[in-house]
Amino acid sequence: MSAHIINGKKIAELVRAEWKLRAEKLAQLSTKPGLAVIIIGNNAASGIYVKNKVKACSEVGIYSEVHSFPENALQDEVLNCIQALNKNPNIHGILVQLPLPPQFENNRVITSIAVEKDVDGFHFYNVGALVTGNVVFPPCTPYGVMVMLERNHIPVEGQHAVVVGRSNIVGKPMALMLLEKGATVTICTSKTRDLPQFTKKADILVVATGKPHMITAEMVKPGAVVIDVGINRLPDGKLCGDVDYDTVKEVAGYITPVPGGVGPMTITMLLCNTILAAERAQARTDR
Ligand code: NDP
Repeated sequence: MSAHIINGKKIAELVRAEWKLRAEKLAQLSTKPGLAVIIIGNNAASGIYVKNKVKACSEVGIYSEVHSFPENALQDEVLNCIQALNKNPNIHGILVQLPLPPQFENNRVITSIAVEKDVDGFHFYNVGALVTGNVVFPPCTPYGVMVMLERNHIPVEGQHAVVVGRSNIVGKPMALMLLEKGATVTICTSKTRDLPQFTKKADILVVATGKPHMITAEMVKPGAVVIDVGINRLPDGKLCGDVDYDTVKEVAGYITPVPGGVGPMTITMLLCNTILAAERAQARTDR
């Protein structure tokens, strides 16, 4: 039997509608949530992501501004911009679109963002908070995956979750969030010997490798929940995930498509984190 398709676009719409109400409530208290996006260089994909983020912001009532810097910008110029945004009371969330040009130190830039405005959740403080189960801003992509599981009433506690990929923005925080919810978690990487041996044991399989179609039907346990984080552009211009969707959907119990799966959730969770940051700022002024 074919898997139940988890419709990320639909869940994202529902979540956005709920958070739009929260943004409206804040606006009535004269706090319009505000997001600043910093983009450096002319990476085409980054440009599209930023445009999508700005559009999504306006749809839920978030003010947004974009600060664009040329490819050869100096790190200090960007740090000064972040310092000013840290102090700006109309801005509640700041994100720096990655990747950065080579002259930039990623960690220096990310840790210059005020912790309470770090809506991507990449600041070391926020990473530590996540590790210790005191999450401040959950990183958007794994947060989106957790919401997808929750909205489909998929239990996590006691399940064996296998995460393929260990990046700081997807794999590692994903594993931590599943662990926090009581899953038994295995993390696989490019160095894992005999990957199928692990993936075949997963009740929940999350794949974030950037390798098109690498997870095939033989690697999946019948009835498993398969979450495909990958977004890959094929030579013909079409998008695909890291999972071989057409064959795996005949084995899995649940599966996310690409596009229309995790992607729409990632932007949605950024909006949620920004509204949450504004709610916290409002609560501080009320005290
Ligand atoms: P990275 O390149 O930073 O990390 C990829 C990870 O996959 C690494 O840990 C790597 O292992 C592992 N890996 C690579 N090949 C294999 C393999 N053959 N077997 C097992 N593990 C492997 O990528 P990201 O985490 O940033 O992104 C992953 C994918 O998710 C990309 O397609 C990206 O476009 C997409 N993405 C989608 C988002 C969304 O909103 N849907 C958001 C963010 C990313 P090692 O560390 O050993 O090298």
